[in-house]
Amino acid sequence: MLCRWSGLLRGARALLLLRAGCPSAVSSRPCRALRSPASPGLGWVSARACSTRAAHTHEEPPPSPPPRTLVSHPESVPGSASRHEFQADTKKLLDIVARSLYSEKEVFIRELISNGSDALEKLRHKLMSEGKTLPDLEIHLETDAQKGTISIQDTGIGMNQEELLSNLGTIAKSGSKAFLDMLQNQGEATSKIIGQFGVGFYSAFMVADRVEVFSQAAESGNPGCCWRSDGSGTFEISEASGVQTGTKIILYLKEDCKEFASEERVKEVITKYSNFIGYPLYLNGQRINTLQALWMMEPKDIGDWQHKEFYRFIAQAYDEPRYILHYKTDAPLNIRSIFYVPEVKPSMFDVSRELGSSVALYSRKVLILTKAADILPKWLRFLRGVVDSEDVPLNLSRELLQESHLIRKLRNVLQQRLIKFFIDQSKKDPQKYAKFFEDYGLFMREGIVTIAEQDVKEDIAKLLRYESSALPAGQLTSLPEYASRMSAGSRNIYYLCAPNRHLAEHSPYFEAMKKKDAEVLFCYEQFDELTLLHLREFDKKKLMSVETDIVVDHYKEEKFEENRPAEECLSSQDAEDLLAWMRNVLGPRVTAIKVTPRLDTHPAMITVLEMGAARHLLRMQQLAKTSEERAQILQPTLEINTGHALIKKLHQLRTSEPELAQMLLDQIYDNAMIAAGLNDDPRPVVTRLNELLTRMLEKH
Ligand code: ADP
Ligand code: MG
Repeated sequence: MLCRWSGLLRGARALLLLRAGCPSAVSSRPCRALRSPASPGLGWVSARACSTRAAHTHEEPPPSPPPRTLVSHPESVPGSASRHEFQADTKKLLDIVARSLYSEKEVFIRELISNGSDALEKLRHKLMSEGKTLPDLEIHLETDAQKGTISIQDTGIGMNQEELLSNLGTIAKSGSKAFLDMLQNQGEATSKIIGQFGVGFYSAFMVADRVEVFSQAAESGNPGCCWRSDGSGTFEISEASGVQTGTKIILYLKEDCKEFASEERVKEVITKYSNFIGYPLYLNGQRINTLQALWMMEPKDIGDWQHKEFYRFIAQAYDEPRYILHYKTDAPLNIRSIFYVPEVKPSMFDVSRELGSSVALYSRKVLILTKAADILPKWLRFLRGVVDSEDVPLNLSRELLQESHLIRKLRNVLQQRLIKFFIDQSKKDPQKYAKFFEDYGLFMREGIVTIAEQDVKEDIAKLLRYESSALPAGQLTSLPEYASRMSAGSRNIYYLCAPNRHLAEHSPYFEAMKKKDAEVLFCYEQFDELTLLHLREFDKKKLMSVETDIVVDHYKEEKFEENRPAEECLSSQDAEDLLAWMRNVLGPRVTAIKVTPRLDTHPAMITVLEMGAARHLLRMQQLAKTSEERAQILQPTLEINTGHALIKKLHQLRTSEPELAQMLLDQIYDNAMIAAGLNDDPRPVVTRLNELLTRMLEKH
């Protein structure tokens, strides 16, 4: 029997998943900043003026920054150049970088901006440790559609000839990594410079057939220099004049990549990947990155308006977040994250989306994926926000992301933290949580049904809320609260699924349960039953539907005291005769018929082992059309109340008016099926019911 239901559960689960599987129409459109860039105007402004936004924390958003361009320093290469071969295998690696590492060519912009940002960070660190004042630290991009070029310039640390040779001549060489080692040797704080991204610079050759790098090291005594290559095996290095401190990279775009000489296109890419870079970023003089990377800030420094603005950007939404979790940790992983629960109720579309999480994944403020599907378990896909972890390498591909041990670990840590967050919220403001559960409870139920590990199921189950027979209507309770009310020695958590409280309280099963004097949770939602069947236990207590409990008691042959006077019930001989007659009339529609002492107001009830699973099977597979077919699957027992007037009358009628008695029994049987929720279409019963009513009125 139990085997039969495990197949059934699989069927029900498959259906749940199938329902969730409608094709997604989520747009892959890149994010767009809601805030428009600066209005034209003033020219030079200190970059630090732009970084004062944090000071506006809890009040109004500050005005947008004005436009600015770097003074043009036309670089030139007066002398001769030295020619160098790329190191062994470089050409092969260049091919790999260009073709297979990144699925989207546009990420070269992200790579070069990241390098610029690293170079600025290095300079800032150097000057601060020398006690010097900081110059304007910024990054400028310029597009020239006519020439088909894009250039990226930073005012950072720059490179001298040897550095150009070693940093850009060897793919495996990571200058940032070497710098990091250097800092570590000196025992200084290094957390801001990681850059172990390996092949970043070479992504330029995905879109350019010629790349020029002009660099002026910040360290005095170094001449400006130029690095040039077509990426085909050799590069040239020469001295250059007119080079501003820092690095300028000019890409001569390939014929089919000219889109990156268009301001619009480049702006789109910057907004998507590099909107949260810590230094001011300009495109053709216009400030682009106006949003701060809130997740890196201290929670207390973040104003409501900043969360609202950021939420709207990241979620592409127009409402406000109802819950905000700002979570930072360094162990077991580096995590800087913010999660938002949208104020608006999720639509059916959100519920059925199969794609997984739509939280963005960043590594040190640089976007890796706008929708990192695997960063959270699927049931948490209603969350919006960002996860930044410097442990995640920038060049991790989507495929690797799925498999990654690191991502799995990240997912588990985040899931635990989020569950704890919601539990805390439910204690802090139960009413607000109740509304949240009403809107988002389906996701939690899905989590319990779809996740395999019992301990995780039970963790999610702490978020469930139900009405209870022990509490007034409208008051919700949780499984841990139920457990805390259980009397010593009881091992079951009882629940009853019904469309609403009235039907639950008047159900024959609840009536039968009353004699046990145990608290019963009332479950009104469609998937509650499936959820609790999958959960099976909570905190070592068995989750038991009251319908199943009745059957289990029968198996244990537990006797209930009949507390009605014997004369109010049929005698045992009469009852036996009646049962025999009923078996005959009902035939294959029942597997067994019994007398129950548990009912008061109901004449009869149907019991089935694993009633919840049975209901799902019938509802979903629609395979049982007739009562006989249904009974074959359910193997129902009809339990009768021999103290009920209808049953007593039935006993009289079966000899005096056999035809009417049969009609009455059919009706009692159908009513019991309906009360059990096993007959979803009671229309066929109506004709007989009318016939019975007519007969009754004939006597008047
Ligand atoms: P990574 O950034 O992971 O080190 P890249 O291939 O992106 O790898 O860059 C290689 C190295 O070239 C960097 O580590 C850095 O030393 C040097 N580099 C690249 N771009 C710049 C820049 N704009 N300013 C200074 N150094 C740079
Ligand atoms: Mg890099």
